[in-house]
Amino acid sequence: MIAAQGGSCATCDGKPEHVDHDHATGKVRGVLCFNCNQALGNVRDSVQTLTRLRSYLGRHRPTVDEVLSPFEVELADYLERHRAG
Ligand SMILES: [Zn+2]
Repeated sequence: MIAAQGGSCATCDGKPEHVDHDHATGKVRGVLCFNCNQALGNVRDSVQTLTRLRSYLGRHRPTVDEVLSPFEVELADYLERHRAG
């Protein structure tokens, strides 16, 4: 699975070290780095929360939003690709 992800985390260039699974179905979604795995856990896999956090950062620090946007878009896409049901 790591090779299929290009040797890195499924959502960033980090070290793939945590097997991520959908907590509702138990199905493995990919292998994530520590930070991405923690980020998904902290928002409980909520695309809505990620979107709101992005908007929040954008409102307060527009330049940071531009930097973080690709990362958050990837996390949201990753969750959408593996969404249950
Ligand atoms: Zn990552």
